[in-house]
Amino acid sequence: RADIAMYESKNSGRNTFHFFDPEMQLAIANRAALESELHRAINREQFELYYQAQVNSKGQTVGAEALIRWHHPERGLTSPLEFIPLAEETGLILPIGKWVLEKACAQIELWQKKASTKDLVLSVNVSAHQFHQVEFLSHLKMCLQEYDINPNLLQLELTESISLNHLDEVISKLSILKEMGVECSIDDFGTGFSSLSYLAQLPFTKLKIDKSFVDNIGNRSADNSLVEVIVGIASHMRMEVIAEGVEEEIQERFLLDQNCHMLQGYLFGRPVPIKEFDAMLAPNK
Ligand code: C2E
Ligand code: MG
Ligand code: MG
Ligand code: MG
Repeated sequence: RADIAMYESKNSGRNTFHFFDPEMQLAIANRAALESELHRAINREQFELYYQAQVNSKGQTVGAEALIRWHHPERGLTSPLEFIPLAEETGLILPIGKWVLEKACAQIELWQKKASTKDLVLSVNVSAHQFHQVEFLSHLKMCLQEYDINPNLLQLELTESISLNHLDEVISKLSILKEMGVECSIDDFGTGFSSLSYLAQLPFTKLKIDKSFVDNIGNRSADNSLVEVIVGIASHMRMEVIAEGVEEEIQERFLLDQNCHMLQGYLFGRPVPIKEFDAMLAPNK
C-alpha cells in the first residue's frame, strides 16, 4: 500500500523499524475489540432470533427463516453481516450456531403446541464450519429430543461454501439428516462456484434463489431468464424452489408464473422479533 509509513521506534533502540499504517492498526484494534465482545455476547444473552415469513404460492405463511441479531451494548442492533464472518474466522460460530439451533428448537416446540402454528416450518442457517464439525449431528439430535419436536418442522439452510474436499462426509451427513426428516436447502443458490454435477450428488431437497437474481426481475430480461433456468434446474433435480428477497409484486407474479413454490421477502414481511411474528400470524386478523 502506498500510504504505509515507516517509523523509527523510539523505545526499542536503533535500527528497529516498524511498518505502521494507522488505518490498518485501527482495523486490527476494532476487530480485536469486536472479537472479545462477541465472546462475551454469548454468556450475556445479547443474541436474539428474528423471524421472517416464508409464504406458499397462495400467499399463506407456511414457515419462517430464523435470522440472528446481536444487541451490542454500544452499537445497538447489529446485523449478522457484521459479525458472522468474524465468528466464522474465530471459531465462535460454533457456540453461536449451537445457541441458534437450541433457540430455534425451543420456538418450534412452542409453535407445535398451538393449533394455529403447529405446521410452521422453521429454517435455520448453518455455517459450513458448524456443519463440518464432528458433533454437529449428535447435537442436533439432542436438540430434537430435548425439545421433543417433529424433525419435519426444522429445516437447515446451507450455502455452497460447504467443503468440496469432503464430499463423502457431506453426502453422508445430508443423507442422515434427510432420513431423520430434517430437510436441507441450498441458500444463496447461484452465487457460489460449485459445479452443478457436484450439487446434483448432494441430497438437498430445496433450493433458494438468491436475491440478486430476484432483484432484476422486470429490469433486465437476462435475469428473468436466469430465474427460469434456476427453476428448471431445481425441477430437474426434483427440488423445491424458494425465492428470497422478493420486494415487488411484479417479482412475485413472475416467480409464481415460473412455478416457484415459495417466496420470502419484504413484500410479505421483514424479519421481526418473535412477538411481532406471532402477532402477525394470529388468527382472526
Ligand atoms: P441469508 O440466509 O441469505 O438470509 C437472507 C437475508 O436477506 C437476511 O439478511 C434477510 O433479512 C434479508 N432479506 C430477506 N428479504 C429481503 C428483501 O426483500 N430485501 C432485502 N433487502 N433483504 C431481504 P440478514 O438477516 O441480515 O442475514 C444476512 C445473512 O447472515 C444471512 O443471509 C445468513 O447468511 C447470515 N445469518 C443470519 N442468521 C444466521 C445464523 O443464525 N447463523 C448463520 N451461520 N448465519 C446467519
Ligand atoms: Mg438463509
Ligand atoms: Mg440467502
Ligand atoms: Mg445471503
